[in-house]
Amino acid sequence: MTDRVPKWKPRTLAAQMLGMEDPTTRGVVPPVHVATTFIRDPDNQYRTGFVYGRPDNATVRQAEATIAALEGAEEALLFASGMAAATAVVLALDAPAYVVAAQEMYWALRDWLVREAPRHGSRVELVDMTDLAAVRRAVTPETKLVWIETPSNPLWSVTDIAAVADIAHAAGARLAIDSTVATPVFTRPLGLGADLVMHSATKYLNGHSDVVAGALATARRDEFWSRLHAVRTRYGAILGPFEAWLLMRGLRTLDVRVRAQSATAAELAHRLSRHERVAQVLYPGLPEHLGHALAARQMAGFGAMLSIRVAGGEAAAIAAAAQVRLWKRATSLGSVESLIEHRASVEGPDSVCPPDLLRLSAGLEDADDLYADLDQALRATGRRA
Ligand SMILES: *Cc1c(COP(=O)(O)O)cnc(C)c1O
Repeated sequence: MTDRVPKWKPRTLAAQMLGMEDPTTRGVVPPVHVATTFIRDPDNQYRTGFVYGRPDNATVRQAEATIAALEGAEEALLFASGMAAATAVVLALDAPAYVVAAQEMYWALRDWLVREAPRHGSRVELVDMTDLAAVRRAVTPETKLVWIETPSNPLWSVTDIAAVADIAHAAGARLAIDSTVATPVFTRPLGLGADLVMHSATKYLNGHSDVVAGALATARRDEFWSRLHAVRTRYGAILGPFEAWLLMRGLRTLDVRVRAQSATAAELAHRLSRHERVAQVLYPGLPEHLGHALAARQMAGFGAMLSIRVAGGEAAAIAAAAQVRLWKRATSLGSVESLIEHRASVEGPDSVCPPDLLRLSAGLEDADDLYADLDQALRATGRRA
């Protein structure tokens, strides 16, 4: 599919959906293909390649082609959620599968790896992916898959993709990366040596808090990629056509959204790091962040996610979140509206998340308005303390 992609920059490819149009009407927006079943040719063939709605869908394919182009991938597959995409990678491994995964990552996926994956024959070891010596110790010739996330929830630690890819490949393992937070605007992991990229397309790729979706993109159409096709079909995990169409509408503005949101996050990070009610700001764009130098090398921008640790501890953090008027007190990230969340309330007891941490997803609102709202919320907790 990528063979026919025009040689445009990612922003152009996304804005024009690779130049797609409706061949019947010449409409500039492709239609939604909703059919679940297709007519067989008289000689018993299916020449269009479409047979049934669970393995494949034309609208889903258009969104996949766009994501593949943005990631520089040979092909992409869309799933019903980010979790469906991520778990498909583990379910596609031959048991017994030994997986090395990041200690700090999206909490629900780490929980699945620890609690559910063993039921499907996987052994999972969690390591600090910023410690390359520890990664080298954990990855052995038995390892089939290394799973990383960078920048990772909720401290935004940065993992060296090229270095971990070398360690994984030397042991004969694949490297998969959850690139939801970086987005293809700021990081192209396949170009740095990763084998698979995963996105919760629910977040930046769609960007409007109205679609749950997941994506995988591959460096190669190899045997493992065929397994992923099979897992998606057999588990019935394909994305619906309406969701795929909405996702395409979101993708058109991905580049401008992510750049504007990242600029706002950077401004908030700088201003909040001088705030008397903030003990620490966690943002890869700040020079004092442990992953700053690596992020500057590996990413084209620092992203739109940051966390703050509120002076006064957990109670003060929860109280500050209760005082916001403009920020939305909600889980999730990557949408046009700014979201704030007391993350430890969501994550389990074995989480790396400090109890005084608020996770901030900078949206598209005015940065002054966003700062003023946080400022009044933080000051209100100071008065009560
Ligand atoms: C939301 C999220 C997921 C899970 O995606 P869903 O679409 O909610 O299933 C995985 N990884 C990261 C980094 C996320 O933010």
